[in-house]
Amino acid sequence: MTPTERTVVEQAKAAPMLDQVLRWAAINSGSGNLAGLAAMASELADACAPLPGQIALLDPAPVTRIDAQGHEREVTHGRNLLLTVRPTAPVQILLTGHMDTVFDAEHPFQSCQWLSPGVLNGRVLNGPGVADMKGGLAVMIAALRAFETSPECERLGYQVVFNSDEEVGSPGSAALLARAAAGKLAGLTYEPSTLPDGTLAAARPGSGNFSIIITGRSAHAGRNPQDGRNAVVAAADLALRLSALISPGLSVNCARIEGGGPNNVVPDHAVLRVNIRPRTRLDEALASEALDRIMAQVAAAHDLHIHRHGGFARPPKPINAQGQKLLELVCACGQMLGQEIGWKDSGGVCDGNNIAACGVPVVDTMGVRGGAIHSPDEYLITDSLGERAALSALLLCRLARDGV
Ligand SMILES: [Zn+2]
Repeated sequence: MTPTERTVVEQAKAAPMLDQVLRWAAINSGSGNLAGLAAMASELADACAPLPGQIALLDPAPVTRIDAQGHEREVTHGRNLLLTVRPTAPVQILLTGHMDTVFDAEHPFQSCQWLSPGVLNGRVLNGPGVADMKGGLAVMIAALRAFETSPECERLGYQVVFNSDEEVGSPGSAALLARAAAGKLAGLTYEPSTLPDGTLAAARPGSGNFSIIITGRSAHAGRNPQDGRNAVVAAADLALRLSALISPGLSVNCARIEGGGPNNVVPDHAVLRVNIRPRTRLDEALASEALDRIMAQVAAAHDLHIHRHGGFARPPKPINAQGQKLLELVCACGQMLGQEIGWKDSGGVCDGNNIAACGVPVVDTMGVRGGAIHSPDEYLITDSLGERAALSALLLCRLARDGV
């Protein structure tokens, strides 16, 4: 490390990240809580105010979803923040983080508490979004602010996207992410590390969410059931046939069947919700074909109508040579800081999938160490705030100097 890098690293570590996490975790920003998301956006804009460049609050793309009756309804997502700094600098990168959490305003998990450290070093904070990813947001901003004090910062320009709907698959922000990723040398996303020891995520599967709408015909359950076409039974048949596709390259989770009515009526509508995760682009194409084939088979067998809504919004993220190089660079920076960091493949998906699909290498677990995310046991190992801010700060210095 050069003396300048050392100064930048020390400055990043000293940022008031824990105070930010405590304040931000107290703001409910479930993906559907537009007021909470707006409050978070304003907090983030304030935290980014010392950075140069321009910040804009952008409307999400229009999004629809299928309701329990099978009708398409518009859903409004929160607005997204876009920060653009030195767009003409020779090295350009993208940093992203989401301000939404999986905990909506009615969820009982709304506040932080300190846990005893147990076997882990440092203090452990339990709270909604502390690891996923309000801690990561604090780390990213601390690193950028420290990096801006370095004389080498002029060589590196960047965009930062803070989106509002990552936890529901980024439907309203995917286009913004793709626009911001275009032409960038590298992407950094601040999801928490895959394991509490700091391990980074490498390859990820893709993910698609589908609502399959089944339209049958109602009839009296006793007088003329033969005239009915039972949509709930067809949905169950569909769920069984789709589940039979599960293989090492493909996971299929039939999550919910909605529909039906009184016991004496043959139900004429049902909606099957299913999540499909292909390991590769080929698995994705095969799954899409199989889905259409099985829908046609079930429609024919039950003599009713079936169509689908949704798609593969998160493409699979394999690790290519460039991705590998970026992972190696992050780990090398860790080594210089005395942090032993490895990587492993993950079964989860995130905005890193979308960034990688734009041909931009991305490390998408630059955030804090913690765990039990998406549950009321979610925790942040608070020592990792400083560690990870130092890691990102040094990485920014190296990217500015050498590229990937
Ligand atoms: Zn997350």
